[in-house]
Amino acid sequence: MEHPENDARYKGLQVNEGVGSQPVTNPYKKRRNTVRPALSVNDYVEGILKGDVSILGRAVTLIESTAEAHQQIAQEVIERCLPHSGKSQRIGITGVPGAGKSTSIDEFGLHVIRQGGKLAVLAIDPSSERSRGSILGDKTRMEKLALEKNAFIRPSPSAGSLGGVARKTRETIVLCEAAGYDHIFVETVGVGQSETAVHSMVDFFLLIQLAGTGDELQGIKRGIMEMADGIVINKCDGDNIERAKLAASQFRNALFLFPPSPSKWKPEVITYSGYYGLGIDIVWDMIERYFAYVKKTGYFEKKRNEQAKYWMMETIDEQLRNHFYQIPEVRALLQQKELKVLNNEQSSFTAAKDVLDCYFRKIKEKE
Ligand code: GDP
Repeated sequence: MEHPENDARYKGLQVNEGVGSQPVTNPYKKRRNTVRPALSVNDYVEGILKGDVSILGRAVTLIESTAEAHQQIAQEVIERCLPHSGKSQRIGITGVPGAGKSTSIDEFGLHVIRQGGKLAVLAIDPSSERSRGSILGDKTRMEKLALEKNAFIRPSPSAGSLGGVARKTRETIVLCEAAGYDHIFVETVGVGQSETAVHSMVDFFLLIQLAGTGDELQGIKRGIMEMADGIVINKCDGDNIERAKLAASQFRNALFLFPPSPSKWKPEVITYSGYYGLGIDIVWDMIERYFAYVKKTGYFEKKRNEQAKYWMMETIDEQLRNHFYQIPEVRALLQQKELKVLNNEQSSFTAAKDVLDCYFRKIKEKE
């Protein structure tokens, strides 16, 4: 058919029939089947126990998935890995952005690996979303470790409630331990609630601080300092050495004012330089001494047992909450009641009771 624009009105313009564009890929090349076969619970468990990194990674993805079917498999895998877990040193590492967490984890991690250890680096960052790129536990931030075959690096599970993100990281610890990782680092940013979550799943909590910011002590939340088993002042190099040392003595003095920690271990303050790799062995020696100490006093076991109990309660809490909010009638009533409470038409307590009654009624109906 003649092209409409070949009409006489469009003088000087001749439109010819075009040719189809060439295929971008080679049509003779056989397409590889990119869908990976689903693995059974047995496959996952066997792979993990053998230390197969790819299967471990896939199992962690299941833990992170919100799909019911994935969660079911994940829970079975975790249950079966549990007897093989628990034998690692779990270390939490926190510090404000820029404190040098990734630089230091790179160095501490290499130190562990050079001593024959296997290291998993996990992270808790409830604010991060995969699509925006996680800030923590990112391979590109730990360039040296990323090349080590004995290091497994996994960024924070993507956004969700802090409880949910923390639970996933804790479950990932179980799988990593079953896969033979004898050191677990859990990284978090020192600015919010996430430290408490990390503290509840690690044996040793390391706070990375900076000197020379002018407000060494004011800037840190007292709660975070109280949780720390070790405080390290990074960037003790070049013309920052004096300031770092001064900051260290200020921290030491501040620690005197704190009540003794439940472990009776006196937190130490050490200066080092992550970037130049100076003092890494001194920091590591402190961590080793801590482990020797708490294992001797029995605090290590006691804390792990307390953490297990804490996580049982947290899981119950989370599951109850999820169940509650998943019922559409409850959600709808909740919205109505919110308005009523806001407009002073009903008291918070009777409104809450109405919503809870609705929830219990719905559960009964389902039975
Ligand atoms: P993060 O945000 O806590 O993970 O901090 P990074 O590890 O990304 O470090 C932030 C910046 O500080 C980077 O530019 C690092 O090169 C620098 N840095 C880290 N450690 C040191 C150190 O020991 N000395 C010096 N001078 N700079 C460092």
